[in-house]
Amino acid sequence: MTQQKLSDTPAAPGVRPIQAPAPSVPDGATGPVAPGPGAVAALWPLGPDQVRLDPDGLLGRWQRRNATVTLPHCVDNLHGAGNIGNLRAAAGEADEAFAGMWFADSDVHKTLEAAAWELGRSPGDAGLRSFVDDTAALLARAQQPDGYLNSYFTVAAPEDRWRRPEWSHELYCAGHLIQAAVAAARTGVSPGLVAVARRFADLLVERFGPGGADEVCGHPEIETALAELYRLTGHRPYLDLARRFLDLRGRGLLGPGRFGPVYYQDHVPVREATEVAGHSVRQLYLLAGMVDVGVETGDRTLLDAAERLWEDAVRRRTYVTGAHGSRHRDEAYGDPYELPPDRAYAETCAAIASFQWNWRLLLATGRARYADEMERALYNAVAVAVSHDGRHFFYSNPLQLRTGHTGAGEESAARRLPWYTCACCPPNIARLMASLHGYLATAHEDGLQIHLYASGSVDTEVAGSAVRVDMRTEYPWRGRIELTLDGAATVPWTLALRVPEWCEAHTVRIDGGPVIAPVRDGYVRLTRAWAPGTTVVLDLEMPVRQVSAHPRVDAVRGCVALARGPLVYCLEQADLPPGAVMEDVRLDPAAPAVADRREDLPEFPVVLTAGGTLADTGDALYTATSGRGRRGTPFTLTAVPYFLWGNRSEGPMRVWIPIAATG
Ligand SMILES: [Zn+2]
Repeated sequence: MTQQKLSDTPAAPGVRPIQAPAPSVPDGATGPVAPGPGAVAALWPLGPDQVRLDPDGLLGRWQRRNATVTLPHCVDNLHGAGNIGNLRAAAGEADEAFAGMWFADSDVHKTLEAAAWELGRSPGDAGLRSFVDDTAALLARAQQPDGYLNSYFTVAAPEDRWRRPEWSHELYCAGHLIQAAVAAARTGVSPGLVAVARRFADLLVERFGPGGADEVCGHPEIETALAELYRLTGHRPYLDLARRFLDLRGRGLLGPGRFGPVYYQDHVPVREATEVAGHSVRQLYLLAGMVDVGVETGDRTLLDAAERLWEDAVRRRTYVTGAHGSRHRDEAYGDPYELPPDRAYAETCAAIASFQWNWRLLLATGRARYADEMERALYNAVAVAVSHDGRHFFYSNPLQLRTGHTGAGEESAARRLPWYTCACCPPNIARLMASLHGYLATAHEDGLQIHLYASGSVDTEVAGSAVRVDMRTEYPWRGRIELTLDGAATVPWTLALRVPEWCEAHTVRIDGGPVIAPVRDGYVRLTRAWAPGTTVVLDLEMPVRQVSAHPRVDAVRGCVALARGPLVYCLEQADLPPGAVMEDVRLDPAAPAVADRREDLPEFPVVLTAGGTLADTGDALYTATSGRGRRGTPFTLTAVPYFLWGNRSEGPMRVWIPIAATG
């Protein structure tokens, strides 16, 4: 673990800081996002070596599966699909024709980032170690003398270098290279990769920096990457360039393109935007960059814009699963309340980007609503994208698969696929899962904040003393979280525990005795001079919830979604009576749903059973009467966690269930 010392980063002249900088950066604050000491952040991340997930908890199992199955699977496919061969050709070591998408390098970089986080956590994997060493060396050899590094524009289209910013993804790929290098340096796994990334970044500063080309990339990503490289190195021109890319956006520099400037958020200056728009992954990566640059420069206008767009995204355009992006066309956000469950695009990368953006907002503001959104995306929109076996993936994540579905193309597949022609999602999952422990908790001068619950432990320093918190829980299946605190017995400090937005009742016990612990701003805050061995038990009630959408969401009017804790549930064909048609199922809203453990399913999940009917819907496509479907055959309906659907067999699924008509 290397803790980089950063130079001071004064707020830009005339810009009001968001709040006073926290007085100190805890040692080892070197996770996926690491605000510098001058940043105007509310909370500080812990280093990935300070938080551990136990493999017997759900998040720990996901991380272990990622390490043992998904990551090696990604490495194999980078070889099989030609990504590594492309770089070998760029290094002059092979004659192979370029294979795959022109931004195929980004899949290598994301896998490299994932491997770095994983090796930082668990350094013993020799296969992963050699992948990192070999790939870092290959990237160095593929780098051009001036620092440029992109296999497509080196091998296949050198004449187009820097000539198609709306389309080329050159800066996007550079951004992922930089993020891989930052991860490799922060974990100490491959410090040398930073030299490669910096040579490229220095070229970018020279070409696009002040006095250089007024250009931006059609696919944001470079902004957040340069901010992180600045945090690592303290080299201010990287941050200035990130800010310049934000400042230049929205001036129509990219031209109308195929889908118009809104597609790549070039239709309005970032500080003036009032709505999320266009390609959802691009929008969300851009928002992540806005928060990073905002906290490092003290530019409140960037954070205000990011929070304003969060309101629009979460209040009007986010699926109940936390997924973003309704439309297949343009892979874009839809109109307000345009959230069709069956035609949902809901790209996996957008859910991951939302998680990363919300983490940045949480660090910047300390507001629990961003942790709530991280949790919703993680347990639903992100988790669903990976099969239980860890080697099959969804690209698009609809909330309904109809009987007789005929998907066209990889992006509307009825089942998870082992790899994709455009393979952005699997390595994105890998890098998030490999760094997942870095998102559980934060520190502040007052104490420790726990945002996501999982069995594991947190080690940090509070008020100058070492503190250890052990966490035991069956979350998300049960809402009971048991914490044991050790260290820092002499000075009072505050343990802040998030009470999720979905939770309406909770209790807290300290050493077995009940305490009054109201929720303030999304957290219960317990301040004590904690004696070693003190136990805290937080119990979050998890009744089954029938969730309704805003009435303007026409596509699911008259339906409810079943949810419990952070999990959204769905119906699967495998749980319906033989011959039943999924679209005929109705939920009896008056019959209370019951939670129960199912041991024949992966993860032994809590499933929900409720009263259902199979409506008599008839054959006529249209009728003049409104009474159709009132009579029906009762049956016991079973709902399973949405993230587990599609692991047993292919077949129809739905999250939103029509309510049985009464009378
Ligand atoms: Zn993707």
